Amino acid sequence: MIFHRSHFIHAIEENNNWDIIIIGGGATGLGTAVDAASRGYKTLLLEQYDFAKGTSSRSTKLVHGGVRYLAQGDIALVYEALKERGLLFKNAPHLAREQEFIIPCYGYFSTAKFLAGLKFYDLLAGGRGFKHSAFLSPKKVLEAIPGLEKKGLIGGVRYSDGQFDDARLAVNLAQTSAEKGGVLINYMKVTGLEKSNGKLSGVKAVDIETNKEYNLKAKVVINATGVFVDDILQMDIPSKKPIVQPSQGVHLVVDPSFLAGSSALMIPETDDGRVLFGVPWHGKVLLGTTDTPLKQHSLEPTALEQEIEFILKTAGRYLTKKPTRADVLSVYAGLRPLAAPTNDTNSTKEISRSHKLLLSDSGLITITGGKWTTYRKMAEDVVDKAIQVGGLTPAKCVTAKLPVHGALPVNTTQRLSVYGTDAEGIRKVAQEDPELNAPVLYGYDTVKAEIVWIVRNEMARSIEDVLARRLRTLFLDAKGAIAMAPEVAKIMAAELGKSEEWQKTQVEQFTKLANQYLLQPYYPENSESKDQKKATAN
Ligand SMILES: Cc1cc2nc3c(=O)[nH]c(=O)nc-3n(C[C@H](O)[C@H](O)[C@H](O)COP(=O)(O)OP(=O)(O)OC[C@H]3O[C@@H](n4cnc5c(N)ncnc54)[C@H](O)[C@@H]3O)c2cc1C
Repeated sequence: MIFHRSHFIHAIEENNNWDIIIIGGGATGLGTAVDAASRGYKTLLLEQYDFAKGTSSRSTKLVHGGVRYLAQGDIALVYEALKERGLLFKNAPHLAREQEFIIPCYGYFSTAKFLAGLKFYDLLAGGRGFKHSAFLSPKKVLEAIPGLEKKGLIGGVRYSDGQFDDARLAVNLAQTSAEKGGVLINYMKVTGLEKSNGKLSGVKAVDIETNKEYNLKAKVVINATGVFVDDILQMDIPSKKPIVQPSQGVHLVVDPSFLAGSSALMIPETDDGRVLFGVPWHGKVLLGTTDTPLKQHSLEPTALEQEIEFILKTAGRYLTKKPTRADVLSVYAGLRPLAAPTNDTNSTKEISRSHKLLLSDSGLITITGGKWTTYRKMAEDVVDKAIQVGGLTPAKCVTAKLPVHGALPVNTTQRLSVYGTDAEGIRKVAQEDPELNAPVLYGYDTVKAEIVWIVRNEMARSIEDVLARRLRTLFLDAKGAIAMAPEVAKIMAAELGKSEEWQKTQVEQFTKLANQYLLQPYYPENSESKDQKKATAN
């Protein structure tokens, strides 16, 4: 399989007759590209920035049915998501793992309520191998989360759910689609829709790297642009009313010592009636999230002051070591593409999280809503629709049993395990050039060979692509990411044939961006890492 941008650009210059063009390279679009290509359709996906640049790299990283949706009575949604959770564990075992959650309990009535709810959750999940929920004594709760406030604690409810790496799954889905013949291009923005007799015949797109414009023909066009769906719908009908209302969710990333254990904390009822998680992830803890309705969308949404305060205050109430602003290693915000309410309410709590398909008179198919967990089912539904709309030769969906690129049942504690089968390739790069078997920066695990691999095989074009979405450093430790940037630029420049000027601009742009993930600005005087510790890719 070739997964190179230049190879894919060549493909669109050679061939201009697609069955399906997908706009948007997040969970929804990439899942659709896997589904369409694996059914044998000539599939092209266009992403305006990098794969998973939007909401799909900014989730809570849970593969879950959604305990909260159960409380809201949305049983069908929970059941579907739990089924999809099981399939993801089978098809991408290198990226998904079981995570234990503890709901701390301070009252007998609430304990009984949570336990009954979670027993029902177990039942809906069926016998899919997850640990069953149970009541835990206060002693057991504190063994699982030593950092928990013990005053008034009468016990806790333990349950099990799934956790994954969202942006890495996105890249692996793109690779899976390419393995099945799909063509996927990042930094290619759709700027208009092509029509013939009122019906959609393709899209106009511009290559952001070269400014070259393309007119691309397709039997069906799918709009999978998340919070941006209305922009595409308005390319079709300028007066179209918005169908999406963005709702912002913020996470604060802190040191693992706040939980001091490997179990995750689930706070079921916050002051505003939502849930808050404290989840161990890649050696740190994610605290979140919020649900703030916004009027505008952006590729780089920023956390509001009140969201930061809300998370710190709520987490602090449950933890003995109270997190403060100074403890925040990274803060990130994402936008949920929720279906806009039809009445005038400003609340997003009750807006359905299930996905929606919309067929425009022009034949444009729009898919929106849903969750990362249900990306595969969403893709199946939208490709079924595309077959009807585009008059494609029917073919059955095969993704329920299709391994995702890299799939290999691995020990998740092993270094490089998130690369799955590709870990072997990285070790080989490191063996062939011992210089590359050293850490990118003293004190960090990432070795230079990983950057080389990512540039050669994962279509990363900028420092940001590498440090935000291939490695997850920006999301885990924004200062560390800033410190790594010059060395990453150097390795990338050697691989891509770029100049020193390119490196300088890249480092400047990345440092500016990464500062938006920090609560205090950080501009190192000299970020060149001289003191390179010897490490291995094993
Ligand atoms: C805070 C938060 C926490 C969440 N946590 C979870 C969780 O734990 N588990 C879970 O299952 N789900 C979770 N979700 C939901 C999940 O993340 C989203 O449902 C999913 O990522 C949406 O994916 P998408 O592909 O629809 O949108 P996006 O990921 O936003 O992708 C849309 C893409 O379209 C591209 N695009 C836009 N316009 C154009 C154009 N003109 N040309 C080309 N490309 C274009 C954008 O650049 C973008 O990359 C969470 C969501 C949020 C906000």
